[in-house]
Amino acid sequence: MLSDIYTEEHRIFRETFRRFVAAEITPNADAWEESGTVPRELWLKMGEQGFLCPWIDEKYGGLGLGFEYSLIINEELIRGNGFGVGVPLHSDVAAPYLASYGCEEAKECWLPGCVTGEVVSAVGFSEPGAGSDLAAIRTTAVKDGDSYVINGQKTFITNGYYADLVVVAAKTDPQAGYKGISLILVHKDDPGFERGKKLNKMGIHMQDTAELYFTDCRVPAWRVLGEPGQGFKYMMEKLQQERLEVCIKCQVMAEECLKEGLAYARTREVFGKPVALHQANAFRLAEMATEVELGRTFLDSVVLSHLKKEDVVRRVSMAKLWLGEMVNRVAYQALQLHGGYGYMEEYRICRLYRDVRALSIFAGTSEVMKLIISRDMGLRE
Ligand SMILES: Cc1cc2nc3c(=O)[nH]c(=O)nc-3n(C[C@H](O)[C@H](O)[C@H](O)COP(=O)(O)OP(=O)(O)OC[C@H]3O[C@@H](n4cnc5c(N)ncnc54)[C@H](O)[C@@H]3O)c2cc1C
Repeated sequence: MLSDIYTEEHRIFRETFRRFVAAEITPNADAWEESGTVPRELWLKMGEQGFLCPWIDEKYGGLGLGFEYSLIINEELIRGNGFGVGVPLHSDVAAPYLASYGCEEAKECWLPGCVTGEVVSAVGFSEPGAGSDLAAIRTTAVKDGDSYVINGQKTFITNGYYADLVVVAAKTDPQAGYKGISLILVHKDDPGFERGKKLNKMGIHMQDTAELYFTDCRVPAWRVLGEPGQGFKYMMEKLQQERLEVCIKCQVMAEECLKEGLAYARTREVFGKPVALHQANAFRLAEMATEVELGRTFLDSVVLSHLKKEDVVRRVSMAKLWLGEMVNRVAYQALQLHGGYGYMEEYRICRLYRDVRALSIFAGTSEVMKLIISRDMGLRE
């Protein structure tokens, strides 16, 4: 069991971070939802206390801790209403590309800032014409002497509006299909790089999601991560942790929805007794609790495999598929138990319901997960 690997250090870390969230995030979450952004000072405060990229090597200013610490941060952020804080995307999705495939110059330049919060990172893969099918991206990067010149557009980029560093997927060999994709680091001050408008989303309002534009954007050749043309392979490698990070979100959001639904249904009375004590609702809550328990068991086992560095592609895809759908079912039922009050902003379930909708879409849709699983079963068209 995952709980078996937690030590006293993990417990202390969780307690410390929980107190940080209670002091710095929960009281401000409503205001950030309203303003559509999380202030930059939060990143610096988190960096100061070692809550950003805790896994980064001590050589670059990190703490050299395991993925369990990222999991703790992700869980506690959600429990404290900080679901939209873009830290897990920075710490566990974007920065790992730099650490794994960046050259020494790039790592020395930016990894310390990823730890302190002075460098906020993002991944720019999706485009207006290509999300699920990343091999179809149209952004190009053409080699010109010691530089690459990037042209194209990205959309739906989390942290996109305020990021300092973006891992951009671009075609360096457009004739070679997915084998012609490279990953390139683009800095916010690079000439020809522009952010578009902050996108107006259905939920997760505090998270800045933006379009990015590249017009003859020139970057030095050392910004290419790893080998040119290997970008698709690197994405497939790193996508497993990204999906796992989203699975954690699904599970904790489902747990929070269940908690809200149960608390409300216990206190609100209809036809002379609590909502929860009408058998239809007691059974509804029993089903929700069962789904949530199943989710936790499955998630923990996949996290354990990931920690052991086992191949988790098939099981992460299954977890992302099932948990992404499960959290939406649980959120729907939890809101239903609230009746009209669930539709009102003053009730937490209203925001939870809105926010969970993206979970079966980003980091690979449910349909794409089915594609991966069925192909793994030998079912190819
Ligand atoms: C809030 C949010 C944050 C995001 N953050 C980022 C980010 O930081 N960086 C980034 O690069 N991207 C990000 N994305 C983009 C996200 O990864 C894409 O939206 C997602 O991969 C789906 O791509 P798409 O929107 O182009 O949908 P499409 O690929 O156009 O899919 C449309 C529909 O077709 C289905 N479909 C696709 N292929 C198949 C198939 N073979 N068979 C059957 N059905 C299929 C899909 O499941 C979907 O239902 C974010 C998206 C959202 C909503």
